[in-house]
Amino acid sequence: MGQKTSQQTKQEKTLLIKDLDALVDLSTLEGYVRKASILIRGNRIAKVYASELPHVKADQTINGRGKIAIPGLINTHHHLYQTLTRAYAPAMNSGLFDWLIKLYPVWAKMDEDAIYWATLAGMAELMLSGCTLTTDHHYVFSGSLQRCIDIQIEAAREIGIRFHPCRGSMSLGKSKGGLPPDVITQPDDEILKDSERLIKEYHDALFGAMTRIALAPCSPFSVTRELMRETATLAKKHSVRLHTHLAETQDEEKFCEEKFGCSPLEYLEELKWSGPNTWLAHGIYFNSEEIQRMSRAGMSVAHCPTSNMRLGSGVAKVLEMRRKGVNVGLAVDGSASNDSSNMLVEVKQALLLQRVVHGPSALLAKEAIELATIGSAKCLGREDVGTLAESMAADIALFDLEELGYSGGCDPLGTLVLCGPTSVHTLIVNGKVVIKNHELLTFDVERIVRKHRAASAKLFRA
Ligand SMILES: [Zn+2]
Repeated sequence: MGQKTSQQTKQEKTLLIKDLDALVDLSTLEGYVRKASILIRGNRIAKVYASELPHVKADQTINGRGKIAIPGLINTHHHLYQTLTRAYAPAMNSGLFDWLIKLYPVWAKMDEDAIYWATLAGMAELMLSGCTLTTDHHYVFSGSLQRCIDIQIEAAREIGIRFHPCRGSMSLGKSKGGLPPDVITQPDDEILKDSERLIKEYHDALFGAMTRIALAPCSPFSVTRELMRETATLAKKHSVRLHTHLAETQDEEKFCEEKFGCSPLEYLEELKWSGPNTWLAHGIYFNSEEIQRMSRAGMSVAHCPTSNMRLGSGVAKVLEMRRKGVNVGLAVDGSASNDSSNMLVEVKQALLLQRVVHGPSALLAKEAIELATIGSAKCLGREDVGTLAESMAADIALFDLEELGYSGGCDPLGTLVLCGPTSVHTLIVNGKVVIKNHELLTFDVERIVRKHRAASAKLFRA
């Protein structure tokens, strides 16, 4: 682990989480240890005490009795702006392509104020579900929407969540054979110029970084071949990660077959996207040979179980990908196809969906948590988060096992995954307490809801 840190101060404060009922440690057989404590110094975990009570003094102490500590959950794919159009009736029972065609014209009318409040709403919801790091894949840019990513970064800094915004893009409009209306597409050179500006202005590659940029052309059916290739070149030049939607539906498979004469993965491979810096959203329609190739290339997949069920897209081959060495992380996906931003719900859905297909021992509770922590961290190229261990960045979620929704639970990790979920009791991001006793300390949630609802109503009036 690098010694340099973005957030180091000279006199670092200490925070002790004492006498936890359980602490998630996925290297153990059960996936957790009993009676543990955690000492945080500055923005790092200084020590984890398993099965012993530490005789240490700290500047601040949190009582861990009755609680389970897990690594902060990591969301690897989202479209936060879609919180404005949740459960949009005309698209509520449509598959992906039809769903997009119905929603594009609504999204085209968003303004920057709407992006700001939608980002905060989604982030607050994520944080209350135990999430400490999220990505966002924003790809709707048009005349009045030029600085969406800047606005989102500002929102993330205010609310206190770690944030990896993906500079999304669409350049293949309907007139050129793509799916989106031309009005929400941009020329390739404009996209590339703005992508480079964002990397230079915001990307932080150091330990404990709160902001990292990734580049993310939207999908094979909304982006030109040239932009896909040049984005990969730009990402390589600046050592940032690449992200896109891939192999989500059979419609997409058909589109690639007809337009490019190959499968979605072959299309990416041809465009030099294959490699360890690429993570793909959904990844449902890969055959066994393709999974082998992805494993050899070190690619990752952001699994989005609720969205895949909601849109009737299909079931990702999570077990086969994991068995063959493809890293799988977890994600809520956009709020118009989920329609919630609750990471703990997603953990449960991931487990349940695999069991529907593969039987009752298909995905263990600890494996479902692994997807959302270690797996997700690897998707995003982070080695400093995803595990509760010494010298990791201090991103921690505490859930209260003595609450109604967990009452009577026996195995603490099973209780967390299979019961509830309820909201997080305490959330720590980068060593800082941002949620205490279920209350967000960094922002007034009622204000977010008021402003967000107004922005959504205004959008539909337009
Ligand atoms: Zn998506």
